[in-house]
Amino acid sequence: MFNNSIIIIIILIYMFSLTNTYKEINNYSLSEKYSIIKKLLNESDYIIIGAGAGLSTAAGLDYSGPKFQKEFEPWIKKYNFKDLYTSGFYPFQTEEEKWAYWSKHIYYDDLGIDAADLYKKLFNLVKNHNYYIVTTNVDDQFYKAGFDPEKITRYQGSYSYLQCKRACHNKLYNYNEKFIEMVNNIDYNTLKIPSNLIPKCPVCGGKMEINLRMDQYFVQDEYWYKMVHNYEEFLKKIEENKKILLLEFGIGLMTPSIIRYPFDKMAYTNKNSYLIRFNLDNKESIYQLDERYIVIDEDINIAIEKIMK
Ligand SMILES: [Zn+2]
Repeated sequence: MFNNSIIIIIILIYMFSLTNTYKEINNYSLSEKYSIIKKLLNESDYIIIGAGAGLSTAAGLDYSGPKFQKEFEPWIKKYNFKDLYTSGFYPFQTEEEKWAYWSKHIYYDDLGIDAADLYKKLFNLVKNHNYYIVTTNVDDQFYKAGFDPEKITRYQGSYSYLQCKRACHNKLYNYNEKFIEMVNNIDYNTLKIPSNLIPKCPVCGGKMEINLRMDQYFVQDEYWYKMVHNYEEFLKKIEENKKILLLEFGIGLMTPSIIRYPFDKMAYTNKNSYLIRFNLDNKESIYQLDERYIVIDEDINIAIEKIMK
């Protein structure tokens, strides 16, 4: 009983400290914050962008709205899908159904669309700076918008690649063309693709999977390690006393240890850095960063427009 009370008090103190941190940074009005960010963009020697699902949502990729409902109507009827996120976890009974759905999903969310305006604007914002991108997003938006591929590290895989489902070997296969063939051959009565289009592992002959970090079999190939190393090298080369601007977009608390917490820590340990967190809901930092921490809880499109003005 006594122990429980102490734990509750500690939790309350912790929650209070978080609220307090947010109150302090909230003293600025949004327009003041945008002026500060503009100034920081001009003054900073390094800009590191961290991006999560919230950025692609803000960019207009519709996961549950009218466009989703129109494009996925047959799947919604047959499988009772609610949105494009939870539908990705549906246990399809056959590979024919699974790849019909996934090729459609990937075409809708990535292959069949160009760079979104928001990503293009972000590119224009940082293209003349010494920037680096780290992301948990698995679409190709940063690549399509013109960012240098040598400056993009994505941790959680990609819609464009398949791997052996049981990771029997460490290689990825670009499936873009084959996905298009699958989409073009979906039988809309059965919601299946022809059996001959089902991917098979070229090594063990078993099932293939999209290279997304879903289980312990996620394949990190040579290129994955190269790009993780690339980012580490970028960070190592940051010169002392130079200014760093961390721009974090739409990263929630699903997998905060990949980008969000490291950004908090970087901002805390490097006193020449600023962390700008674009997030509607999860606004706290795990450290006390005072005036070097700014939260923008406005739609990212509007925020970027205002910063570019
Ligand atoms: Zn295999």
